[in-house]
Amino acid sequence: MITDKLNFTVGPVQSCPAVRELGNEQVPYFRTPEFSELMKENERLMLKFAKAPQGARVCFMTGSGTASMEAAVANCFTPQDKVLIINGGSFGHRFQQLAEVHNIPHTVIRLETGKTLTREQLYRYDGQGFTGLLVNIHETSTGVLYDIDLISEFCRKNSLFLVVDSISSFLCDRFNMAGCGANVMITGSQKALACPPGISIIILDTLAQQRVMSNNPGCMYLDLKLALSNGERGQTPFTPAVGILRQINARLCQIENNGGVDSEIERVAALANDFRKRIKELPFEFVSNSMSNAVTSLHPKNVSAFSIVTILKDEYDIWVCPNGDGLADQIFRVGHIGYLSIEDNTRLINALADMYKRNLL
Ligand SMILES: *Cc1c(COP(=O)(O)O)cnc(C)c1O
Repeated sequence: MITDKLNFTVGPVQSCPAVRELGNEQVPYFRTPEFSELMKENERLMLKFAKAPQGARVCFMTGSGTASMEAAVANCFTPQDKVLIINGGSFGHRFQQLAEVHNIPHTVIRLETGKTLTREQLYRYDGQGFTGLLVNIHETSTGVLYDIDLISEFCRKNSLFLVVDSISSFLCDRFNMAGCGANVMITGSQKALACPPGISIIILDTLAQQRVMSNNPGCMYLDLKLALSNGERGQTPFTPAVGILRQINARLCQIENNGGVDSEIERVAALANDFRKRIKELPFEFVSNSMSNAVTSLHPKNVSAFSIVTILKDEYDIWVCPNGDGLADQIFRVGHIGYLSIEDNTRLINALADMYKRNLL
């Protein structure tokens, strides 16, 4: 059994029983008024939880988060644009690669591992004719949460079209799409939505919809014109991951019934704060002082991070998240998203305390 572990990774994460039970059901035919109704409800709740502006629309893409990152880049920009990309790790680098593939002129602000974006770094690009900005508001690879107010103010001042990848931050950190003036926001099914991977979600404000309608993305599957027009009747242009869309519906309704998005964010924040308070007793350093509630990135003081990941998996039946990008020995990450409890935190802390006793930390 490879699923018999307590999962503290950053995705796929643990799903609640209601979502898991849906995964056991037959997948229904979807060109029906009933499925359209469910999709309309998904759209309504996504707009509400993202605090999206009037007139915003939602596209449900079958594909992991990167599919929606690519759709946003290809549909919202042209070679006439000049975009700024915040690159603080592997997801920022992915936006850079996508801009290259789609021939979007761009300039990259490269940050040091674990460091947030400062006002000084950003305002070096003030008044220089940029037209857009791409940011992963939580750079999941290092656990750094950027200051959305700083970015929002800069984009307003420079009239930049703002794309926010909040794939790992949605439902974990406060986000107000209308308030911060983001034109596009992206999330995915396997992070805090805690469903299986396979669906990503793009919210487009009215300006973003105009850009989509007048642009040619040079591909068909990710052409958001088709997604927008089919979405008007609660449908998708091609067969979507129907089962996951049903699971997303159950999860969104559950969040709504439990007090809405703000309560869910508080729940995740409480889990993160509990873990961070208790891990201080053990020989770790926090990688960042600007953390999302979604993830705690840890640097072990004495041993390889990757050895900790392996021992937790093989000897304690607990998954935490290893790092790539040449940081495997320096950093590992503990997620606070998905179906987790304070008792689960206790199990992880006890496992780490036991490793410490065994001189493995
Ligand atoms: C998980 C994640 C993605 C999407 O990755 P996929 O593997 O394509 O789902 C994109 N951006 C961020 C910030 C993420 O955390």
